[in-house]
Amino acid sequence: METLKLSPSTTHELLNAANAQPLVEICGVIAREGNHQDTIYPIANVHPDPARAFTLDARDQIAAFKSMRHAGSRLLAVYHSHPDQPAEPSAADRAGVGYPDAFTLIISPTQSPADVMRAWRLGEHGFVEVKLRVSN
Ligand SMILES: [Zn+2]
Repeated sequence: METLKLSPSTTHELLNAANAQPLVEICGVIAREGNHQDTIYPIANVHPDPARAFTLDARDQIAAFKSMRHAGSRLLAVYHSHPDQPAEPSAADRAGVGYPDAFTLIISPTQSPADVMRAWRLGEHGFVEVKLRVSN
């Protein structure tokens, strides 16, 4: 099983961001520099129904990718939150464009601690869960 390793500070920051906006799906990308240094780029959710789905704002996304190029980092994960649903790809996620080149990380602040954050990889046959390991 594939593993996504994130630092405690990265997961803490993501959970805080999701908790700060409990009524909408927050979203953004995580970039990785080398093997360790991660940067979170929050991106505006421009979906017409942001409580139920997310669409990355195109302008924010371009700016984030430009910063990543300058920093020499690569796209690690696209994250979003589920305000009141499990951290599993929703029907909207499954029907959406998806990001096969990156992990999909879903944050669900209302779930039990073990299920607050789950990672997925979009493959040919849909989303497959990957192991999420939180450590420095
Ligand atoms: Zn979703």
